[in-house]
Amino acid sequence: MDADPLSLDEVAVARKTVVKIRTPDDRSPPLAIRKLSKRYGNTIALHDVNLDVRPGEFITLLGPSGSGKTTLLMILAGFVRPDSGSVKVGEEEILVTPPHKRNVGMVFQNYALFPHMNVFENIAFPLRQRRFDRREIAERVHRVLEMVQLTGLAERRVDQLSGGQRQRVALARAIVFEPRILLMDEPLSALDKKLREQMQIEIRHLHERLGMTTVYVTHDQREAITMSDRIAVMNLGRIIQMDTPERLYVGPRTRFVAEFIGESNLLPIEVDEVGARFCGRILKSCEKPIKTSAKQWLVIRPEKLSLLDGNVDNSSLNVFDGTVTEIIYQGESFLCCVRLNDGNNLTIRNYSRGEMLARIPSVGQPVRLGLSPEDTTVVHEDQ
Ligand code: ADP
Repeated sequence: MDADPLSLDEVAVARKTVVKIRTPDDRSPPLAIRKLSKRYGNTIALHDVNLDVRPGEFITLLGPSGSGKTTLLMILAGFVRPDSGSVKVGEEEILVTPPHKRNVGMVFQNYALFPHMNVFENIAFPLRQRRFDRREIAERVHRVLEMVQLTGLAERRVDQLSGGQRQRVALARAIVFEPRILLMDEPLSALDKKLREQMQIEIRHLHERLGMTTVYVTHDQREAITMSDRIAVMNLGRIIQMDTPERLYVGPRTRFVAEFIGESNLLPIEVDEVGARFCGRILKSCEKPIKTSAKQWLVIRPEKLSLLDGNVDNSSLNVFDGTVTEIIYQGESFLCCVRLNDGNNLTIRNYSRGEMLARIPSVGQPVRLGLSPEDTTVVHEDQ
């Protein structure tokens, strides 16, 4: 399909016209998901999922492969029908609405662009489907091309674009008609690491400008932490915990979340009425762990541990004694693996600053590690 060419004058007028694009004060509606369930034969893809996305919020569904992320996104898009539950956008129940009438923008991992069309026509496609007039199509396409930094490439065929440029076209096509909700399924996973990290920041900035209620799917916890207002951690068809990236990192509630988000050391602990004990010693902690029948673990982030100097008073810290088994240099930081005297292992991460580098212990050296009470987090085993 060829573009219906505009005259130069028309393009000039179009580019000067102020195009209505959502501002953060004009946010898209909230999304309310209630008791959503989906089975495939004996497989439970989603089990009683509840999720509230606030107007203009950027939510990420994060979980391992098979945890139900894509199923949830496809239900929102209208491509999969749930067995039960409800999905409301604002006041409207959308499960009864066919996909093309839901006013939802989608970006997929494989771009799903039309290879025989140029960039302009790919982005114009949803506008033509919605019968926008050609001046508004030109205005909007040029405006989003600018937003995704593809100005000047309107006439280029998509098979002549790089991976990053194609993903920008896919993004432009998803937002050009100002959908109420934007859905993205692993949109960056085909890109190399550097470009992926750059696009994460760009999508985040674009979201800040547009204020579109967004649901993003990834299995990459770093990507989720970088981009999201809140993250819903999923496993086996359920949302295990939902919170801001900071609070999930600092306060995971279960072992699964602690292990899935960030690096962690886990030490088995006993919890009684007095507090949490490791090797019989009461752990100093800001929050008193609650005794439950479930097994509990102490979560220690490697960068929260410090190598202690034996001559300094460490009485306010939790201390762990052991012997260095390995040092792994990683450029900006180094990992120090320690076998504790009780046989458990801990890994510490220290940043490669001058004074730290000078203090790297050697393999076989006895060391004492310190952990402050505010970094002492207890989680329970997953049900
Ligand atoms: P994720 O996106 O987290 O990898 P999915 O939502 O794709 O997870 O899948 C959730 C579960 O449902 C998995 O066990 C998967 O094998 C199953 N599943 C998904 N789609 C289908 C399908 N069309 N037919 C049968 N099983 C499916």
